[in-house]
Amino acid sequence: MRKKMVCFAVLFFFICATGTAAEEIAGLSLHIEKLAPKVVRIWVGDYVSSTATTAIGTSRGIVVIDTLGCPKIDAELRRVIARELDRDDFRYLINTHGHGDHTQGNSVYADCIIVAHELVPGNMKESFEGRKEAIQWYEQRLPELRKELEKKKSGDPGRAAMKERLASDTIQYEVLKSDVMPALPGLTFSDRMGLDLGDAMLELYYTGGMHSPGDIAIFDSRDGLLFTGDTMADVWLNETPGCLASFVARHGVRHDFPLLLKNWELLLERKQGIKRLVTGHWNGELSMKGFEERVAYVKTLWDETNRSCAGEGTLRDLLAACDMKSRFPGLADSPGFSPYNNYSTIVEMWAEVTGQQQGAMKLYELIDAGAGSEAIEAVMAEKDAAKPKYFFLEEQVNACGYRFVQDNKLDKAIAIFRLNVRLYPQGWNTYDSLAETILKTGDVKMAKELYEKSLQLNPESRSGKDALERIKKGKWKVKKQPPPPPPA
Ligand SMILES: [Zn+2]
Repeated sequence: MRKKMVCFAVLFFFICATGTAAEEIAGLSLHIEKLAPKVVRIWVGDYVSSTATTAIGTSRGIVVIDTLGCPKIDAELRRVIARELDRDDFRYLINTHGHGDHTQGNSVYADCIIVAHELVPGNMKESFEGRKEAIQWYEQRLPELRKELEKKKSGDPGRAAMKERLASDTIQYEVLKSDVMPALPGLTFSDRMGLDLGDAMLELYYTGGMHSPGDIAIFDSRDGLLFTGDTMADVWLNETPGCLASFVARHGVRHDFPLLLKNWELLLERKQGIKRLVTGHWNGELSMKGFEERVAYVKTLWDETNRSCAGEGTLRDLLAACDMKSRFPGLADSPGFSPYNNYSTIVEMWAEVTGQQQGAMKLYELIDAGAGSEAIEAVMAEKDAAKPKYFFLEEQVNACGYRFVQDNKLDKAIAIFRLNVRLYPQGWNTYDSLAETILKTGDVKMAKELYEKSLQLNPESRSGKDALERIKKGKWKVKKQPPPPPPA
């Protein structure tokens, strides 16, 4: 049985954006917000969660924070900044992190010193190499969007939002198709860095791990502004939060929790000097309370993980003790949080503290690469090892099986589900998932046996009962798979 992660579809949009919208750039309305006498924040669009660029005027030149991800638009925005600040001595561009919607316009500032965390160049290169997949996604999505838009009547409240989505996605698609690698940061740092700008001082802090590998926070002490990029938001100004939608440590994203917590702590020591926290996209807000809550949450999880690993605690116990709803009821419904995000963060922390790797991922990689049984058995043996190199969770192995199913690699899915049955012979869901996949291959007899075994372990299993019913009626053929999710 697939454990569903509910993702709410967006039907209606509303705007609470500040700023004015008299001009347009590439058909998208331009917004300009004055954050301080020498600081402007600008963005385009009213609905889609686009990046907001900020420009800070200093006695040593203009510092720009983030680009919007499209050189054509960023070139226009550069002109708007010069007009608004009444000068054009651009000196620095700082990327809050490496995601394309913050860096793809970097070339517009190729004459400046581009600053970012040391992991950002690698992150940008990786995205550039993976652009083919993103291009394919847009090629599938754009005609669908056009069709959906045609169906929307002129008075429909969702029409303007959809039109903007289409314009924005078309621009993104064109940027990817242009095949131009954005300008990479030339000045990078690992932990912290200061930029002396004469009448202003910018402090840069690594804050990565809960959004991308190389996020940073930028503190402008002169103007009392703390730029937090896409790492967090506690208010969404519309129902398409985009990049700000999750606060989570993901597998494959590098973390350094002690450094992250240290830097957050240093920033909180500057609390009195922070007048406003500024998020990386226009449609999110972050209060000091929201910031403090998120810091406290990560600190609690990190402390609990360390305590658990120092004692006799198991990962399963830790997950139960730090359950989102019971342990953090005040945050459970707050932007960025979900039981899945909480789970993923704890698992990543466990891996970091113990030095163990995820057994599920290792099995997935081995099976995907067509590895022989010897390599697979060596990993399986770690389940009962005294000092294991890998840790296992039934639901993780199960999820890896469904990744294979999604990619239509049924043989590989069956192989990993079989391993899960061996790892967790008392888990009713392991048999259920194996049965479901075997049924897809048409082996009704085997699927029936496995469903029966699953029902022995959990007589209440709805999916097992339904499947047996379908098999009995001969209506066991499975419906088409849902379309894959958009690229990250
Ligand atoms: Zn981002």
